[in-house]
Amino acid sequence: MALIRNTVQKKMILDVFRSTTSLLSAEGIYEKLGGSIAKSTIYRNIPTLVENGLLELHYLDGCSMYKIGTKKHSHYLICDVCHSMTPISGCNIRFIEKKAKRETGFIIKKHHLQINGTCRKCAKGKK
Ligand SMILES: [Zn+2]
Ligand SMILES: [Zn+2]
Repeated sequence: MALIRNTVQKKMILDVFRSTTSLLSAEGIYEKLGGSIAKSTIYRNIPTLVENGLLELHYLDGCSMYKIGTKKHSHYLICDVCHSMTPISGCNIRFIEKKAKRETGFIIKKHHLQINGTCRKCAKGKK
């Protein structure tokens, strides 16, 4: 029974992200769920979801934030004000990886890149 319960909870956590395009912290997920899942349960489930690629981890102001995982390799511009995410096309890091691998023999598994700043909407609103 515990296993089924677990699955339901994971699904509920993932469902929260269907209604938002912004990053959410564990706290934010908890709030969106309106307390229907215990905070400790959310914290416990998140690492597994990230590990399985169902959630993606990003850092914002030193906090761990999450978004729904995408199979497609992509990077994002993250707005520090509204926490919105804008995907950027292409990934030039692959070239850096190739060069680094050639020069150091390091076996690269993955990379993480995010660009923080202010989105167009928020920049306008600030004036
Ligand atoms: Zn913004
Ligand atoms: Zn990349």
